[in-house]
Amino acid sequence: MLYDLIIIGGGPAGVAAGVYAGRKRLKTLLVTDAFGGQSLVSNEIQNWIGTKTISGFELAQKMEEHLRAQETVEIKIPERIKAVELREKNFLIQTEKGEAYETKALIVTAGAKRKRLGVPGEDKFEGRGVVYCSTCDAPLFGDKTVAVVGGGNAALEAVVDLLPYAKKVYLLVRGEKLKGDQITQEKVERAEKVEVMFNTEIAEVKGSNFLDTAVIKNRKTEEMRELPVEGVFVEIGSEPNSEILKSLVELNHFGEVVVDHRTGKTSRSGIFAAGDITDELYKQNNISAGDGVAAALSAYNYLLEREHQSPASEKLNGNGS
Ligand SMILES: Cc1cc2nc3c(=O)[nH]c(=O)nc-3n(C[C@H](O)[C@H](O)[C@H](O)COP(=O)(O)OP(=O)(O)OC[C@H]3O[C@@H](n4cnc5c(N)ncnc54)[C@H](O)[C@@H]3O)c2cc1C
Repeated sequence: MLYDLIIIGGGPAGVAAGVYAGRKRLKTLLVTDAFGGQSLVSNEIQNWIGTKTISGFELAQKMEEHLRAQETVEIKIPERIKAVELREKNFLIQTEKGEAYETKALIVTAGAKRKRLGVPGEDKFEGRGVVYCSTCDAPLFGDKTVAVVGGGNAALEAVVDLLPYAKKVYLLVRGEKLKGDQITQEKVERAEKVEVMFNTEIAEVKGSNFLDTAVIKNRKTEEMRELPVEGVFVEIGSEPNSEILKSLVELNHFGEVVVDHRTGKTSRSGIFAAGDITDELYKQNNISAGDGVAAALSAYNYLLEREHQSPASEKLNGNGS
């Protein structure tokens, strides 16, 4: 079986690409280990355009429902892709369960995973005080005391996101100085409700139903103490799931797939990418969905071009030789 298009990933980028591929009636296979993507764990998504508030789980259900309405889109779930290989003008996709599928075009939307602290209590309080996205959840911490972990742009932007809401913000920095943009550093340092603590890391988070304490350690003096906080924002970066593309397309030094942001084209013809896996500046659901749409429309044009060049062997909708 030769597909017109295979999409890897069931987050907003993958589902958006799948819906548009279905509407172009491309013979498509979408492979993912789950629907919904990173914000699946979110209790409240308040910025999915057109929906005032929705849980990550509900959004995942709606995405799956919309995708399943596309007649020419086949879905393999739960399934993980372990390798992508060239097969002349096509690509061979290998799964962890040992299946292999061939396709003319490929859209990779395998996203990213936020780096975790790896301290006791982190898993227990994820979504109950431990947060990985300030753009998403800062408004949920109105009049509360919180800590932000990190010294780079992500952490500084998280502090700025929290300024209109939180009562007090501790910025916990492992090193001696901040690394982010100067202008944001000055904004953070000017803010009265912000206390920057250098050479400081979190050793543990504690609480009962919800997080109420962060145990912090001074890396110089080894002194440990308890900080009463109701939220810990972990802003120490994210890792793109780009391993499967490493030998095929250009990646930047963060391991993100370098794309043309108008089309989603990567450095290899026939492979497109969208969403958090790419060098997209802002990592947001709406932006990933938009990227997915652009990648699907570009893949469609790529396939039309192939069909134009060699009509006999390249008929779209899977009725090629
Ligand atoms: C806790 C949290 C809360 C967030 N809240 C919000 C919010 O409220 N609003 C907002 O706009 N943004 C939010 N974000 C950011 C948003 O979730 C991401 O920007 C968005 O999910 C990126 O979409 P994506 O489709 O590019 O990738 P992802 O969401 O990362 O989805 C990638 C998909 O690919 C699958 N996958 C990965 N590798 C493979 C493989 N090898 N084989 C098969 N499948 C694979 C994954 O299971 C997943 O389904 C939040 C992020 C986090 C971490």
